[in-house]
Amino acid sequence: MSVLEIRDLHVTVETEAGATPILNGVTLTVRTGETHAIMGPNGSGKSTLAYAIAGHPKYTVTSGSISLDGEDVLEMSVDERARAGLFLAMQYPVEVPGITVTNFLRTAKTAVAGEAPAIRSWTKDVKQAMANLRMDPKFAQRNVNEGFSGGEKKRHEILQLELLKPAIAVLDETDSGLDVDALKIVSEGVNRAKGETDLGVLLITHYTRILRYIQPEFVHVMVKGRIVEEGGPELADRLEEEGYDRFLDADTPVD
Ligand code: ADP
Ligand code: MG
Ligand code: MG
Repeated sequence: MSVLEIRDLHVTVETEAGATPILNGVTLTVRTGETHAIMGPNGSGKSTLAYAIAGHPKYTVTSGSISLDGEDVLEMSVDERARAGLFLAMQYPVEVPGITVTNFLRTAKTAVAGEAPAIRSWTKDVKQAMANLRMDPKFAQRNVNEGFSGGEKKRHEILQLELLKPAIAVLDETDSGLDVDALKIVSEGVNRAKGETDLGVLLITHYTRILRYIQPEFVHVMVKGRIVEEGGPELADRLEEEGYDRFLDADTPVD
């Protein structure tokens, strides 16, 4: 049982104009076995929350806290966060030039587990996970994210999720750029991880579409860097019908 606790989190981002406040007091608790959706209009700060949890250097936590099982996440390096059981799939994953998917996965597994996986069982696990995600075995020899299509990037993320077996996963816009078939395959992967390891999921999404496949027990609406409404799955249904209009005043830019 793991618990990720975010308390009254304030985050600024460095822009040319200086430090700009983006998150203005976000409080949220995610436990293993739970699925939470954070929904909200574009520009509301959803990705900023993901980056803050990940420890991206551009995002500064000015007050509040993030802890995992009582340990201060903000004091941890990015590697330590992964070792502690956090998994972050970013909206815009970076290319890792010259490193193949196979080597990347093995290095990541070694870093997270603290020791290199036994070759034979690892090779089998990778093959099985790739087959589960209907990935061509040749994909393993490609360089990470180099020329990956949107769908390949997402599948590669879920491949990592299946193999690294984190306690809590933060998935930012895992649905973006996926056609329905790919969305189903990716969602099945997340659901498999939930079933096998009692994964806790923080699913960040603008659209309700993915929530048909990965069903959240808790839905949080973020607007202007704050959680403005919380509920169960029925809240997602309501957002699907009504959109975010009722949360926005006329002068709020929505891109
Ligand atoms: P969402 O994911 O909900 O669309 P983001 O967290 O990406 O929202 O962005 C929230 C606000 O912070 C936006 O106004 C965005 O322009 C700004 N922002 C986020 N990251 C950066 C950055 N690296 N540089 C400048 N502005 C940023
Ligand atoms: Mg956005
Ligand atoms: Mg975003």
